[in-house]
Amino acid sequence: MHARITTLPGDGIGPEVVAEGVKVLKAVAQKWGHTFEFTECLVGGIAIDETGSPLPEATLTACRAADAVLLGAVGGPKWSDPRAAVRPEQGLLGLRGSLGLFANIRPVKVYPALVAASTLKSEIVSGVDMVIVRELTGGLYFGKPQGRQDTAAGRAAVDTLYYTEGEIGRLMRVAFDLARARRKKVTSVDKANVLASSRLWREVAHEVAAEYPDVEIEDVLVDACAMYLVRRPADYDVIATENMFGDILSDEAAMLAGSMGMLPSASLGAQIRRASENPSGLRFGLYEPIHGSAPDIAGRGVANPLAAILSCAMLLRWSLGLAAEAVAVEQAVEATLEAGYRCRDIMTAGGRPVGTAEMGDQVVTYL
Ligand code: NAD
Repeated sequence: MHARITTLPGDGIGPEVVAEGVKVLKAVAQKWGHTFEFTECLVGGIAIDETGSPLPEATLTACRAADAVLLGAVGGPKWSDPRAAVRPEQGLLGLRGSLGLFANIRPVKVYPALVAASTLKSEIVSGVDMVIVRELTGGLYFGKPQGRQDTAAGRAAVDTLYYTEGEIGRLMRVAFDLARARRKKVTSVDKANVLASSRLWREVAHEVAAEYPDVEIEDVLVDACAMYLVRRPADYDVIATENMFGDILSDEAAMLAGSMGMLPSASLGAQIRRASENPSGLRFGLYEPIHGSAPDIAGRGVANPLAAILSCAMLLRWSLGLAAEAVAVEQAVEATLEAGYRCRDIMTAGGRPVGTAEMGDQVVTYL
């Protein structure tokens, strides 16, 4: 296969972890005889410094021309003045909006070797293997009207939680497609006892469920879900939810795995590539570790690159249709952990300490 991958290293530890992801992708290309063509572009703070914009037009053009995008992280103290007109995060939001990336997918898997790295008891986190599918371009973060007003009663502000059935349906189909290849259970999370938008969500979720008779659906209220995530997280397979609920629940779920340095993500769009080769539909996607730019450890070669490397496995599976290669990368990560290699964020008793580049090298060795 020939594939075009645009890389956006960004700020802080972004370039360090993306370099390890690219290292692993190059090893995959060599082992399986693929050609991956990498184009590196600017995004975030470094793009502001060099071009004045957090998302230069050339970056957007290169992303649109690619089969997939691999991003590091954006932001840092240098660009965090709240009065600044341009901010690194605008680059990320602009990318999601411009590329129509409506589904954010976050797998949360607790590796047996890392059970002790979680702040929760090992019997609770042991066996956790779930995917959170979060709607990314609708709901409270985008609904209009949004803003502040001066009223007779003083200052007031409004946000609007608005969803169309089309937005809900396409998100639920991503969740059901995923569940079909896993343990065949979708948990749809809403607040249908209070919110009209949630009642529509539940209605559409069940209409989509009817298209997938082999997959079980359950409805859980968001407040109960927050509780169950720390009480019996191993019960979940695929959780599907709207934008803000997903934002909060996915960060809560991230803590099950011990460190943000372990968790990958994919943001998928509607565009299906090479459908003839893969009837279930390959999608253009943006892949990134869930962590930020970690300015406190940037430039020291100690950041954990496994979240970025696991994001590359998702890229292989979802945008390139290379499932065997994706599994091989995931197994290489697991083998590296089993062998005891640890960056300091996941250090456990008796672990073999390694830095960013050495961790990447070990994954390549096991691959
Ligand atoms: P962060 O995720 O950057 O860091 C939180 C903590 O986790 C830090 O102590 C950091 O050292 C540690 N950490 C994160 N990733 C790690 C890794 N791979 N290996 C080892 N340790 C790791 O979150 P923050 O400190 O709240 O934010 C820092 C900057 O990143 C801010 O400017 C924020 O806006 C930005 N940010 C960007 C993204 C993104 O690009 N998607 C996401 C979150 C935050």
